[in-house]
Amino acid sequence: MGLISDNIQSFLEKIPENVQLIPISKTKPNDMILDARQHGFKVFGENKVQELVRKYEELPKDIQWHMVGHLQSNKMKYIAPFVHLLHGVDSFKLIKIMNKEAKKAGRILNGLFQLHIASEETKFGFSPDEIFGILDSREYAEIENVRMIGVMGMATLTNDEKVVSKEFKELYSTYRDLKSRYFQNDESFKEISMGMSGDFEIAIKEGSSMIRIGSAIFGERHK
Ligand SMILES: *Cc1c(COP(=O)(O)O)cnc(C)c1O
Repeated sequence: MGLISDNIQSFLEKIPENVQLIPISKTKPNDMILDARQHGFKVFGENKVQELVRKYEELPKDIQWHMVGHLQSNKMKYIAPFVHLLHGVDSFKLIKIMNKEAKKAGRILNGLFQLHIASEETKFGFSPDEIFGILDSREYAEIENVRMIGVMGMATLTNDEKVVSKEFKELYSTYRDLKSRYFQNDESFKEISMGMSGDFEIAIKEGSSMIRIGSAIFGERHK
């Protein structure tokens, strides 16, 4: 592995321009993020609130932070003042807390509906019907400080490309359904966050607009 900025640059060269790369810097030190930032890369994702808040406080404020992990609603208040996009919105309760904390912070918070597409039971996420239920509800109509701008999903961890490809197809198709039923005139509803270091090529083939890449840029993580 070279410098982080080199790794990001070579990643950008191998993906289409309409796919946004979100480098996932979790567990990695500030100096790696600073190296990238010095070369103009200013978007990063984290999956733990405490680490995200610490890095936000320690690093320059022009970095755009994405929260990609599961989030407990009592932690929303810590990130609401600065986070750019929450990829893992997986309950109506969380949307309501987002709305409340965003209002307090005087902001609009962007979110993605996380769908449960993998066969593993441990991965979080909605079924399509649950999202339709939320969007049809009277309570959702009163949400003012949350902007849902797309979907996110994680495929099963397997070497079987057919399985991964089928799951990403499902996610894409749910995105299309949501778009045509609820967001047809909403230009901001356009994101499909799918693809990680091990499956981003399949994800891009299946219509991803955002890939979340950790180890392929920053190196393996040590537990
Ligand atoms: C860690 C993480 C990633 C990046 O994983 P890699 O396999 O290292 O690329 C992407 N998305 C989420 C939600 C993560 O927690």
